[in-house]
Amino acid sequence: MEMLSNLSVPLERVAVQEHTQMKDVIGTMGDFLTPPAAKARPSDVAIQFTRANNDLVAGPYVLDGQTRPIPGLEQSAVVRPGTVKRSPSGYHVQLRQSYQGIPIYGGRAVVHMTKERSVYFYVSDLQPKAPEVETGKAGEISADEALEVVAAQLSWKKREESQPRCRRVYYPYEGSLLLAWCIDLSLRAQQPIQTDRDRSSDWRAMVDAYGAELLELRDLSIYDTAWARVFYPNPVVTLRQENLAHDAQIPDKAYRKVRLAGLDDSGFLRGRYADTSKTPNRVREPSRQFLYKRGDPGFTETMAYCFVSRVMNMLRRQGWGTLFSRQLLLNAHAPIGDNSKFLPSRWELRFGKGKVMDAEDASIILHELGHAIQDAQVPDWADSPKHTPVRAMGEGFGDWLATLYFAEQRLKFHPTCLGDWDARGYTVPRTCLRRVDTAKTMSDWEGEEHADGEIWSAALWELYLQLGGDSSKARTRKEARETALKLVLTSHLYLSDGMRHTLKFEHGLDALLTADRFTSADVTQPGPHDPLIRDVFAAREISLS
Ligand SMILES: [Zn+2]
Repeated sequence: MEMLSNLSVPLERVAVQEHTQMKDVIGTMGDFLTPPAAKARPSDVAIQFTRANNDLVAGPYVLDGQTRPIPGLEQSAVVRPGTVKRSPSGYHVQLRQSYQGIPIYGGRAVVHMTKERSVYFYVSDLQPKAPEVETGKAGEISADEALEVVAAQLSWKKREESQPRCRRVYYPYEGSLLLAWCIDLSLRAQQPIQTDRDRSSDWRAMVDAYGAELLELRDLSIYDTAWARVFYPNPVVTLRQENLAHDAQIPDKAYRKVRLAGLDDSGFLRGRYADTSKTPNRVREPSRQFLYKRGDPGFTETMAYCFVSRVMNMLRRQGWGTLFSRQLLLNAHAPIGDNSKFLPSRWELRFGKGKVMDAEDASIILHELGHAIQDAQVPDWADSPKHTPVRAMGEGFGDWLATLYFAEQRLKFHPTCLGDWDARGYTVPRTCLRRVDTAKTMSDWEGEEHADGEIWSAALWELYLQLGGDSSKARTRKEARETALKLVLTSHLYLSDGMRHTLKFEHGLDALLTADRFTSADVTQPGPHDPLIRDVFAAREISLS
């Protein structure tokens, strides 16, 4: 990696990644580092970097180093510094976009830098165009009028905990930037609680400032401890019973009692990271004891909530506490046949039925959660076209996460399977849904994302084994899981571009090598696992030219 003498990036050296068509994305992974500035504030470094490369910021927007606009001097279209995030690889400074002093909702770019403040990567979700609508035109509604529009949907007036916060934003909606009122409301519970909306809650509403139409209404509440009885991950593994039939009597020893972290006090399965509100006839236990068994209403719902919550809390302890900006919605028994899916636009997981319900098998739950995690890290990951490599990486990541999380439970039985309980309920029962230890290489490409995902998951599983996952010491295996998760999740951040359908497995490998470097002590050198990672992927015919 080359160290630049100053912050400006020579244009001829700006390599836009092959998988993006956005002009304002500098694809610099592995190319250069700007000089370290360990005592500087990360936001100052981000501004200096962006200023030195102002011609790389697309569109009619002008860079302004001030955090707040100077009254009367505000330019029409401006980009300025916002929040700073920390991760195992350093700092990530967000830049925000506004027009006539009004923020563009979601309009942001991120400058990635090492712990020593050397910039190495820049990604952009800046809107390339300015809004067409001007403010102050006739017909624009006031904040009070916008609140009336929300009042029609939420009975909030007697339940306000504080004054609603109303601000104007430009909201990207169906291809244009609409001037909208963004309204945040905190409500007390309405007694007795009969529906979701009676609970204490925090809401965000978007109201079109000209059409007086509610564009979006979203619950933002974050909430504490309870007990659940679950399969961990499923009875085939716990009982080590290869021929367990889907209709077998399941003994008590197949169940495990676990704590539920982060539940609110509504009595529902609703908490910091997930909410089962989409589950028909959802269960309510004011005592917060969700101690069901297979076949009870509420068992699959408890499974789904429990494992989403546990995985997200594990990731939070490893430094990923800000992955989800809102609760993932769960439908534990959706009428969609023997299948499950993630719906990015609804921020929802749906688990299907079958002789074995999908959410009776925790490995299926974790696979779907994998899709949501990726979509939270890289907006719109799940929206790329079917059967593309990026989709296959998504399937492979989900399979790997599901297997990795239960590696200790599976140590001596089905170590590399997922869905081994779900598969007992198929029309023709199978050993498992998929595996993460196939011999597949790129020569076995089928053009089907689940099948091709087995190439990616097998490489990631081999990575875990080589990092120490094959050790006889439990502590070494645990460290290997943490290292592998850190590398893989960090690598996703480097795939954050607008156009992902041309992204290939090689980009995924490149991003892993970058993650290895930038989570290590000396980022001027290739990461400590560089040769190991290259070898693991080369065995699958994935290498950098
Ligand atoms: Zn999937």
